[in-house]
Amino acid sequence: MTTLKSYVCDRWVAGEGRPATLVNPSTEEAIAEASSEGVDFAAALAHARDVGGPALRARTFAQRGEMLRAMAQALHAKRDELLDLAMLNGGNTRSDAKFDIDGATATLTAYADLGQSLGDARWLTDGEPVALGRSSRVSGQHILTPRAGVAVHINAFNFPAWGTAEKAAVALLAGMPVISKPATATALVAWRLTELLVDSGAMVPGSFSLIAGSTGDLLDRLGAQDVLAFTGGGSTGTMLRSKVNLLAASTHVNVEADSLNGAVLGPDVERGDDTWTLFLTDVARDLTQKTGQKGTAIRRVLVPRDQLDAVREDLMDRLSVTKVGNPQSEGVTMGPVATASQLRDVRAGIEKLVADCATVHTGGAGALQGIGAPEGRGYFVAPTLLSVEHGAAADAVHTHEVFGPVATLVPYDGAAEAVALVRRGGGGLVTSVYTEDRAFAAEVIVGIAPFHGRVTVANAKVAGAWFGPGTVLPQLLHGGPGRAGGGEELGGLRGLGLYLQRTALQGYGPFVDHIVASAKRP
Ligand code: NAP
Repeated sequence: MTTLKSYVCDRWVAGEGRPATLVNPSTEEAIAEASSEGVDFAAALAHARDVGGPALRARTFAQRGEMLRAMAQALHAKRDELLDLAMLNGGNTRSDAKFDIDGATATLTAYADLGQSLGDARWLTDGEPVALGRSSRVSGQHILTPRAGVAVHINAFNFPAWGTAEKAAVALLAGMPVISKPATATALVAWRLTELLVDSGAMVPGSFSLIAGSTGDLLDRLGAQDVLAFTGGGSTGTMLRSKVNLLAASTHVNVEADSLNGAVLGPDVERGDDTWTLFLTDVARDLTQKTGQKGTAIRRVLVPRDQLDAVREDLMDRLSVTKVGNPQSEGVTMGPVATASQLRDVRAGIEKLVADCATVHTGGAGALQGIGAPEGRGYFVAPTLLSVEHGAAADAVHTHEVFGPVATLVPYDGAAEAVALVRRGGGGLVTSVYTEDRAFAAEVIVGIAPFHGRVTVANAKVAGAWFGPGTVLPQLLHGGPGRAGGGEELGGLRGLGLYLQRTALQGYGPFVDHIVASAKRP
């Protein structure tokens, strides 16, 4: 049994007390344990603030970028080992595991490249200088400098590598030290990748810490110069952002939460054409990849009413070849959900949708024996396709996220109804529109954009060069308004904004020019 330690104050610390047990979700066997009880969180914060922060801020963007590149290389060198751990602890297929591990190295590398392009500066200007008043003697310039505290990152269970790396890459490049807390149930990958990073010597002392277990009193100790970035369930996010000390100190908090992502098939798309195929591929992939446990996965499939039967038949055909089981077994294409509580939540969620007028076409909440899993063991759910007759009358499909291999077909009549139904999600990470019809695309996109952090529009023209809406790219924003938490991550340079204070600098023009000469004007 592996014991996960926390890495704080540049050393490994074993937890005390009764540890949490990490299991293999395909077999329910215990594989590791973790506890952070007894970790001195005050010392961890002080070390990050006093050692990591100054050391990072003394380095240029290019040097911080080089650190990120060395981190990416250290992880890539042990890619196979990390893939195996993701399969073991996350129930990932090898392909799912690659999505997580390679996503981590790709995001670190993207921010390494950004660091290189920002060069020798340590902070940034924002916008152009402006002449103030009637004379040209006084001018103003917005500047962005790294906050002087710690970035605390709390991640969801589904992407232990990518989640850790995408948040860390941005904070470290901005010049803030990181204390990262993976979800305990799937922390094996994040713990091992931290070991690899530490052993590689890539990281500036004090710049990265890992909490294996709960956060203890860490969050109660955060103040005005710190940042909290959270990914997980909406209710956890609401509870964390409501902490009195965070509100009192105006601590910057970023929340990435639930999302009822949509996919809208345009009325112009005909069965069997390339856009139709792309749409089916994206929906089927999102339903089964990571066993549907992606914050960006398509949950609501909006289809012109007269195409509902055809889409249902074609999707069921695609889903029928899914082999659910232990990813270690030959031929398995979808693993279990990650934990026993996930299994309970997914089953209860399907039942909730069914109780609120959804019909099950394939799958459902029943028990499933996974291929290659011990009899009656493992957290398996069949890929589940539901439909509702009238999207406007249904409620749960627009409000209850089932975080598993589940999607619901929702018929619509006309662009205005498609927009209204998508908006019922109350704010999401991404919705995708599949059409060649520019007028339809424009009406739907303008209608749904205020409700989303990202909108994708797909058709035959992008087939072959298409990432699918479920893939989060470092160049583009990740996050969304409302239910999705109101957060923003990544988006290239934009992502650094969470970790940088914007300040309006005003004064005698030549003084201001002299001071900002050492900043990078992006
Ligand atoms: P969760 O139960 O909310 O947990 C998320 C993280 O918060 C875990 O690391 C958890 O730690 C931690 N946490 C829970 N209570 C805490 C507390 N009182 N103080 C400090 N930390 C606390 O969510 P999950 O089950 O891991 O993830 C599933 C949810 O995440 C889904 O609802 C999904 O929509 C959402 N999600 C969103 C995105 C996105 O990008 N928007 C991406 C992925 C997932 P422990 O594990 O130790 O409890």
